[in-house]
Amino acid sequence: MSDNQFDLPTAPLDRRRALQLLGLTGAVAAASPLALAQTTPAAAPAAPTAPQNGNGFYRQKIGGMTVTVLSDGTAPLAALLPTWGANPDRQAEFAATLAEYHVAATNTVNHFNPTIIETGSNRILIDTGRGGTAGQMLANIRRAGIDPATIDTVFITHGHGDHIGGLTTAGQPTFPQARHVMGAAEFQFWTTQANPNAAVQANLIGLRDRFTLIQPGAEIVPGLTAILTPGHTLNHLSVRAQSGDAGLMVFGDAAGHFLLSLKHRGAYVGFDTDGALAARTRQRLFDQVTTEGLWVTGYHFPFHALGHIRRMIGGAYEYEPTVWNWS
Ligand SMILES: [Zn+2]
Repeated sequence: MSDNQFDLPTAPLDRRRALQLLGLTGAVAAASPLALAQTTPAAAPAAPTAPQNGNGFYRQKIGGMTVTVLSDGTAPLAALLPTWGANPDRQAEFAATLAEYHVAATNTVNHFNPTIIETGSNRILIDTGRGGTAGQMLANIRRAGIDPATIDTVFITHGHGDHIGGLTTAGQPTFPQARHVMGAAEFQFWTTQANPNAAVQANLIGLRDRFTLIQPGAEIVPGLTAILTPGHTLNHLSVRAQSGDAGLMVFGDAAGHFLLSLKHRGAYVGFDTDGALAARTRQRLFDQVTTEGLWVTGYHFPFHALGHIRRMIGGAYEYEPTVWNWS
């Protein structure tokens, strides 16, 4: 890795692009044979010369770590209640919260936010999006200026298709150089089903030999620890990353809905395998990240999906998105 703060290419603006920005292209080219020579050939519009934060990814430092949240795009949630299908007896209460926070209750979308953590020693991708034609993660890794071949570790929080789908591309491993890491119990659960779904078949069973299977509490790479956060799936693992005094909890799907799961104790979402267990895990996690002042990222939180959790009166919590910290 270079000394550059974010390890990005730093190509300067070319002359023609600079002139375009100044609105001078035509005048200078007409007036100066030298300028004319320098602008030939000049048919194609100049592409951005460096990754632009927010364009499919969001990157900032946390302690000595560089954290890049990648958008895998969005998907409509038209078939589900705006509360993600949970707690049918509490819909009026949830609807009031959505209205209070100006969150749309119809035509909503789901976000998917894999994350890359660069520790200085390792470059780790946590979850991989949906893959296939819908998945935007791989394009956005490149847009972030990161060569996918340089990712040395891929960690999977749980076996749902929107987290494992990007492990393969057109039937081939997307990250052939990377050590693949997943919780042993979670991997076993999905790969021993009588009729594994297509995503499991392609991305877990098909890549079985690449996986290192770990136990809760294990170190994934130095500085990153797997944390048992059951309920969304029964063996779901989140990731605790630490660098000096700064810590980050990568929730995966353990945090649920970015507003309702925080605001309403006991709330679960329709995707949870065991809603009551998921809700208890959430309370423990939210208490931990607020007590310890950790950064958090939630896989289905609205992009850029990185911030803190704030403790409110009455046992409620709120998500506080980061305000574009650059250093
Ligand atoms: Zn998910």
